[in-house]
Amino acid sequence: MVNLSGKKGLILGIANKDSLAWGIAEKAAQAGAELIVTYQNDVLKKRVLPLASSIGVENVFPCDVSQEGSICTLFEQVGKVWSEIDFVLHGVAFSDKSELKGLYVNTSRNNFLNTLLISCYSFTELAFHAQNFMKDKGGSLLTLSYYGAEKVIPHYNVMGVAKAALESSVRYLASDLGPVGIRVNALSCGPVRTLAAAGGIDGFNYILKWTQDNAPLRRGITQEDAANSALYYFSDLSSAVTGSIHPVDSGYHVVGMKAVDAPDLERVVV
Ligand code: NAD
Repeated sequence: MVNLSGKKGLILGIANKDSLAWGIAEKAAQAGAELIVTYQNDVLKKRVLPLASSIGVENVFPCDVSQEGSICTLFEQVGKVWSEIDFVLHGVAFSDKSELKGLYVNTSRNNFLNTLLISCYSFTELAFHAQNFMKDKGGSLLTLSYYGAEKVIPHYNVMGVAKAALESSVRYLASDLGPVGIRVNALSCGPVRTLAAAGGIDGFNYILKWTQDNAPLRRGITQEDAANSALYYFSDLSSAVTGSIHPVDSGYHVVGMKAVDAPDLERVVV
């Protein structure tokens, strides 16, 4: 297990126990990190508070990234507790589910702007504020993306466009903040059954099964798979890694077409 003792991390994106951000928070706490976590609204607060308390997190703050000033207020609150942050996880995304079905061409102006604001710009705004807490010894900023940024995935629509912009932001932020020792990376995770994914994307079960059946490892990914890679980025093991989009997808990103399983005999190497 990676050792994060002595590190302080801010985690955004926990909605419930299925959230990728929760899997990452839990494992970071097990690895010795001290955490602050956020919740989006009062409904989710009721779920996030007991989870946070189960891993010994005392400071839990509200942050709705769609509200102007919310990220700034969050960092004011964090500043009352910590003067430095070692890592930040951005596990936040949203789009109107009525537009995560059918055709991308039907995307409305309002939902386009809202999706990009919440799912992409919020990471840049986080980086802007986090840099003040990382200026002395650097730090690590991590966001969560998906293959729909690179290739067309049915019904992923405007979220794919937002993830493409998010991945580009990772590169620009890495370039801006690298000179002061701040690393910026993304995990591109395979599909996992969460509130946002299973509840939001039409045909999610099909996407999940297709990936499980055709990824080189012939399985999907788990919260723990994502958390394992996140810990690498939070730790000094990735000290010279920045600007990367790291696939955690059982290898699905290398696949060009539907898998054909070879008979066992063809696997024998002599
Ligand atoms: P989730 O529903 O558990 O988490 C999404 C989080 O976004 C929630 O905690 C929600 O409160 C937060 N959020 C939405 N709007 C917000 C706002 N205005 N202000 C603050 N927070 C807001 O789902 P998840 O799948 O764990 O999603 C986490 C991240 O992982 C997202 O960026 C998602 O796109 C990404 N991702 C998920 C999958 C997957 O299959 N589950 C795959 C690749 C990437």
